[in-house]
Amino acid sequence: DMALYESKRHGRGRSSCYTRGMQEAVSERVQIETNMRTAIERGEMHLAFQPVLALTDDHVIGYEALIRWDHPTLGAISPVQFIPMAEETGQIVPIGAWVLQEACRQIALLPGDVYVAVNVSPVQFRSPLLLSHLTQALSQSGLPAHRLEIELTETAIVEDGSQIATMLEAIRRLGVTVAMDDFGTGYSSLAHLRDFPVDRIKVDRSFVATAESDRHSMAVLEGITHIARALGIPVLAEGVETPSQLELLRKIGCDAIQGYLVGRPEPLVRAATSQPSTSQRVFA
Ligand code: C2E
Ligand code: MG
Ligand code: MG
Ligand code: MG
Repeated sequence: DMALYESKRHGRGRSSCYTRGMQEAVSERVQIETNMRTAIERGEMHLAFQPVLALTDDHVIGYEALIRWDHPTLGAISPVQFIPMAEETGQIVPIGAWVLQEACRQIALLPGDVYVAVNVSPVQFRSPLLLSHLTQALSQSGLPAHRLEIELTETAIVEDGSQIATMLEAIRRLGVTVAMDDFGTGYSSLAHLRDFPVDRIKVDRSFVATAESDRHSMAVLEGITHIARALGIPVLAEGVETPSQLELLRKIGCDAIQGYLVGRPEPLVRAATSQPSTSQRVFA
């Protein structure tokens, strides 16, 4: 409304220009929102998988599943754009159920004991359907529960304390593990690690990106790693792009890494077959 008011104040030409821009933005949003309901059944959504490398023995121990949407007219829409919309409309619950089902189905086809990590939105986490979606994904795929990990952001875990703790316990009782995603970016504190037991901490990639140039980032990265180690919680660093970042994380005592250096998110068949050569390249 303010933009419209401002534009009217500045005369006709600008007014129509502003209005058209706003209308386009609104119509694209409406289009995305309405198309989301049927995108899965039209086969427009798929999962990309990004490898997780353990630094103890330089082997791939798991994959994070990341949703992708190829819209017929708008092209690739980032989850950063459509997940928040799906959260607002509640569509995240059925979409999230599909992600769980599809991620488990695909990982169960791989040989070995690798895990799959699935992002779970706070809206899903508060839904009474989550537990049944988890058990259904496991039973339909035959994947053992310990090979499924859910990723929750720090803020999702910490807000609304007691109910969250109860839900976390129920999930872990199934045998499903829980990772705290984007750690260090929320308003939480390390003290929460005591009250909300998690199986893994994923340090946000912003710390990795700036560790070499900013000693404060470096200090936070080191501090998180040391405290997590003392608590017996494995630490995974996200967004590792360069060999020097990898060496730094090794020195600090990080347990695992994820990032373009090891592999980009891609269809699982490709990710799983390209892996041996990638880890050779990284650690030659
Ligand atoms: P996230 O869970 O923190 O996922 C990591 C993001 O970092 C992914 O972006 C990944 O492609 C990107 N990334 C990985 N390695 C690197 C690197 O070395 N450098 C850089 N610059 N980026 C890297 P993506 O796939 O666009 O997903 C963005 C966010 O969308 C995710 O952040 C997650 O919060 C959300 N998301 C993705 N898939 C799902 C889903 O199935 N369900 C829910 N609820 N959220 C999802
Ligand atoms: Mg994640
Ligand atoms: Mg993350
Ligand atoms: Mg993130």
